[in-house]
Amino acid sequence: MTTSPYRALPSMDRLLADPRLAEIIAAYGHERVADQARGALEEARQAIGNGGAPRSADELVAVVLARARAQWQPGLRRVINATGVVIHTNLGRAPLSREAVAAMALAAQGYSNLEFDLESGERGSRHVHIEALLTQLTGAEAALVVNNNASAVLLGLTALAQGKEVIVSRGQAVEIGGGFRIPDVLRQSGARLVEVGTTNRTYVGDYDAAISHETAALLRVHSSNFRVIGFTHSAALPELVELAHRRGLLALDDLGSGCLLDTTAYGLAKEPLVQESVEQGADLVFFSGDKLLGGPQAGIIVGRKAPVEWLKRHPLARAVRIDKASLAGLAATLTHYLKNKATERVPVWQMIAAPLERLEQRASAWAAALRQAPSAGSGHRPLAGSGQAQDAALGEGVAVVDGRSMIGGGSLPEESLPTRLLAISSVALTGGATPEAVAARLRALQPAVVARIERDVLLFDPRTVLPDEDEELVAALRAALAGL
Ligand SMILES: *Cc1c(COP(=O)(O)O)cnc(C)c1O
Repeated sequence: MTTSPYRALPSMDRLLADPRLAEIIAAYGHERVADQARGALEEARQAIGNGGAPRSADELVAVVLARARAQWQPGLRRVINATGVVIHTNLGRAPLSREAVAAMALAAQGYSNLEFDLESGERGSRHVHIEALLTQLTGAEAALVVNNNASAVLLGLTALAQGKEVIVSRGQAVEIGGGFRIPDVLRQSGARLVEVGTTNRTYVGDYDAAISHETAALLRVHSSNFRVIGFTHSAALPELVELAHRRGLLALDDLGSGCLLDTTAYGLAKEPLVQESVEQGADLVFFSGDKLLGGPQAGIIVGRKAPVEWLKRHPLARAVRIDKASLAGLAATLTHYLKNKATERVPVWQMIAAPLERLEQRASAWAAALRQAPSAGSGHRPLAGSGQAQDAALGEGVAVVDGRSMIGGGSLPEESLPTRLLAISSVALTGGATPEAVAARLRALQPAVVARIERDVLLFDPRTVLPDEDEELVAALRAALAGL
């Protein structure tokens, strides 16, 4: 008589008594770990039912630990961004300055005068902490900050144009990305979209002809992440402002990125400045806190006093209000601009302004560190035997090459900055590993490393790797190349 393969599986009790599970049982409790063990055993039984071999106790412990890690460790992990895309929306957009992070920690840690007037001892407004900074930097009369720019635009249109018409150029009734579509946002606000002009050409006369007694506003939307080239025309903001005010309407400007510094100083195309929109008379200007401004997620609205006040008092403002930590981080970020220190202190601008020689130095230092045999005890030593072959391969497969960094974040499409990249070609990959496999290994590390692959070459751009991440990056590269 043969024994059933099911009997080869350990019992629940024996599995849970394994010392390797003691730590997670202590941390998360017996019940939760028992649930994972039950699931692992159930899977093992199904595998046997499908004709597979019974799993060993070691394998089952590994499965329980892996399930626990996958489900209970916070999913949001630190990533080293070696892609060269400065404002990488999927990687969390703008990294913050030290001062902004410190201000956010301070606001989060304890109590603050968020909505408390320390002078009178009475209720205050969270807007006062940021309004003066914004009006000084942009020249606007008033300002308001909300959760993000999508909610800023939604709030603006709801408060000012609900039940009325808003005129938008056909070429600007677009999707910005991440599901933000101007026609949908307009519909959600209760305003009616009136599209004018054609996809490539719209004149101020087109807006003029479409104005009715139902019209509340003319809206300009910055074509953040695409460009129409060739036979094109769009109405300039001053023309729209002149028309809107002559006909008793509002001129609204969704700038998207919301840049305060001149991008042409770095060889990039011109990104419209918030100060210019204000100066040209837009009643309200909407922009993000975490794109080219380089601060935390926020939606910023600056403009004339009366419409800003309407927005502040609208019930939707409460639903999209900014959180205290973001408010503190945004104020600290704006302070860098006020002190004329943005390119030195705001990481997004440090990256844009990074001199090519400095990028070259860092990429070369990474390459040199990789070519060097890792010192004993450096942690990620390749397995004995593969070491020498790999060191030789690294000498040939590792190089520093010319490349381009992108701005990203829906800013300056098609625009790039010259950079120097660490390039690891397949010559450096031992054991038949593909560049994709090495990239996957890099993503599985803590912190994860995200790189680019072009024509089978792994590329690492120092522009977007924070300077204090250099050592971690080299250690990660060693580990991934050694197949760890
Ligand atoms: C990015 C963008 C938005 C949305 O801003 P979020 O801060 O991501 O909500 C809206 N309008 C334009 C033109 C944009 O570029």
